[in-house]
Amino acid sequence: MAYFHSQNKVHDLSDLSLKRIKEFKLLPTPENYELWFIYFSQTDPELVKEINSAVKRDGGKLDDEACYEIFQEFLSTDREENTVKLAGDKIQQTIQNVNDVVTSTKQNALEYNAHLMRANEGLKEHKSQEEINALLTDVMSGTQNMLDRNEHLEVTLEQSARMMEDMRRDLEIARKEAMTDPLTGLGNRKAFDHEIYRMVELSQDDEYTFSLILMDIDHFKKFNDTFGHQVGDQVLKLVSRTLKQGVKGRDVVVRYGGEEFSVLLPETNFHGAMKVAEILRKEVEKKEVVNRSTGKKIAQITFSAGVSQYRKGEEIDVLIERVDKALYEAKEKGRNQVVSAPLDR
Ligand code: GH3
Ligand code: MG
Ligand code: MG
Repeated sequence: MAYFHSQNKVHDLSDLSLKRIKEFKLLPTPENYELWFIYFSQTDPELVKEINSAVKRDGGKLDDEACYEIFQEFLSTDREENTVKLAGDKIQQTIQNVNDVVTSTKQNALEYNAHLMRANEGLKEHKSQEEINALLTDVMSGTQNMLDRNEHLEVTLEQSARMMEDMRRDLEIARKEAMTDPLTGLGNRKAFDHEIYRMVELSQDDEYTFSLILMDIDHFKKFNDTFGHQVGDQVLKLVSRTLKQGVKGRDVVVRYGGEEFSVLLPETNFHGAMKVAEILRKEVEKKEVVNRSTGKKIAQITFSAGVSQYRKGEEIDVLIERVDKALYEAKEKGRNQVVSAPLDR
């Protein structure tokens, strides 16, 4: 992220950020600093709005966890986007360089051509040995110049091709990073949006269908509060691994949000999806989180889930809303269960 502030302003923003970190008794991590710095700089109105309402909700304060969540939501993907933007700028620069060299070589070829024409005309008239020598020297130097220019063009083109190849690779890596959740290695919300859109497109074919499972870990806040954020993160990783291992290769498991996961099941109808969700629920329930030093079981992880099949022609938001409602119902009914969203509503 680039900051376009004066030195004084930057110092003020830094003071304000550190003061706020102390005031709220937050850990002075780079993430917290960045979050408050951007908050006070007011360069991201959405972030300011989110923080203000979170502070209001939490009674005039904000804890490390809440800051972390807002950071994840607003700032953690900016870096990948920057990489993509930077690569875009570099490509533009490279194209400009090649363009310049091609233009100047073209110009030179025209001059060279004129040079040759002049020599050709000159040779038609009777010339002395010296005059012919002078003409030849002239043509040779023009030719050498042309060769040099062409060599320069060749080198530039080679360099550009190499640079483009490097950037293609960098962009591919950045694209993957932008779609990956760094904690769990699963696809993130962006990957979800991309995949569900693709599946909806495929559903225009009469034969094709897909289903969606949305899951939310039960009482995760309590878990975090009791065992700490880091253990919480370990649990998220464990759940991710379990989900990934529990589905077929073509199924797409993503971290939908904080402690929410989603599975997209291509070519799977509603009954198949219910089966998968139930298998996953049982697999996660079986996992034990153990305190490494005492060997004692410290908690059981469960999740609640909503499931449905895509209805042809349905808007993506409507499908998600239906499944989310079912998930909410699963929570209401006592958690650790799978509820299906009716297809006819
Ligand atoms: P419910 O059964 O109703 O889902 O209860 P819950 O406590 O899981 O639900 P709630 O949405 O109130 O809380 C979700 C909590 O998940 C908030 C936050 O403490 C935690 N959380 C979200 N993202 C992360 C993360 O990346 N790491 C960790 N450790 N905790 C997270
Ligand atoms: Mg939740
Ligand atoms: Mg939850």
